[in-house]
Amino acid sequence: MKNRQIVLKSYPKGMPSEEDFDIQKTTVEDIPEDGVLIKTKFISIDPYMRGRMSELHQNNMTFKLDQPIEGGIVGEVVKSNTMMFRKGDIVAGFLPWKEYVVAYGWEVNKVQTRNYPSSYALSALGIAGLSAYFGITEIGKPKEGETLFVTSAAGGVGSMAGQIGKILGCHVVGVCGSDEKVRYVKEELGFDDAFNYKDVEDMEETVKKYCPEGIDVFFDNVGGPIEDAAMKHINKFARIIVCGQISHYNDEKRPQGPRVASQLISKSALMQGFMVRDYRKRFKEGVNQLVEWMAMGQIQYNENIINGFENCPKAFIGMLNGENIGKQVIKVF
Ligand code: NAP
Repeated sequence: MKNRQIVLKSYPKGMPSEEDFDIQKTTVEDIPEDGVLIKTKFISIDPYMRGRMSELHQNNMTFKLDQPIEGGIVGEVVKSNTMMFRKGDIVAGFLPWKEYVVAYGWEVNKVQTRNYPSSYALSALGIAGLSAYFGITEIGKPKEGETLFVTSAAGGVGSMAGQIGKILGCHVVGVCGSDEKVRYVKEELGFDDAFNYKDVEDMEETVKKYCPEGIDVFFDNVGGPIEDAAMKHINKFARIIVCGQISHYNDEKRPQGPRVASQLISKSALMQGFMVRDYRKRFKEGVNQLVEWMAMGQIQYNENIINGFENCPKAFIGMLNGENIGKQVIKVF
């Protein structure tokens, strides 16, 4: 049976280009005992994947050249050799970028997104939504009336983090990379305020203007100059949630930035990074809460869906360039 896969052809230098990827024709492998054949429906396009393409900072997670990229996938079981799944089941897992994937039963989970599209297992009710939920509730622990400052506010994680902040009674200020995104987070998601960082001359002054009471909870997805400016405006006992550092993902050298330790001391502040999988035993609890908020109309969620398996590389580069509003997802079949 005919198949296609997307491999990494070369390690990108700086911003990846489409030439760093190759779309190859191949065939479907035999399905092992305990295995399933999955027809890929959706592919998640995630910023962390850039780190796995780094030649300089190689580790056991680095993608191998000429091997399929791997990431979050939702698909339909079309053939099953295991009692765990039946034909027609919708499953999710971290699997190779292929139109048809052969996997062992233990590599995938049944998708339960209830009344929502199955792609939500990769977005609102998947890694993006859960990162926002656990980052805010476990590290940020916002109190009513506090100011929450969110970077990449119109993205998959940021759009959810800001709305959870609103539900918990915060004054929410977002930062994003276009006027359209500013309008989206304010008018459609209910953020109290937002600004376009690409229009800013003096970042420190701008943060001060938009957060006149200072920042109590800082949900950071980007790092870099916005983080540097925000750190200057944190309040006493602020909590800084270090979720991502996308402004550095294409860097060839490790970034040098302002030292923040003295600011953390003088403000008695907490700065904590996390990996969403740290909370994997509690994912069900997170999904239940997010579903409840969505059902009550307290959370709106957008997926930036692009059709066509062959568009994965283009969508990945587009996401790094800020072309997505909401979570970037590819629809395959
Ligand atoms: P996303 O925010 O939907 O998409 C990435 C966005 O980053 C782009 O749309 C762009 O929006 C922004 N961006 C790119 N370069 C930037 C720069 N130099 N300065 C400021 N913004 C920039 O992606 P996501 O999937 O929701 O992920 C958001 C962050 O969370 C990423 O850093 C990711 O690595 C991290 N993350 C962490 C975990 C965890 O377990 N810790 C899990 C999931 C995601 P603009 O138009 O606004 O520039």
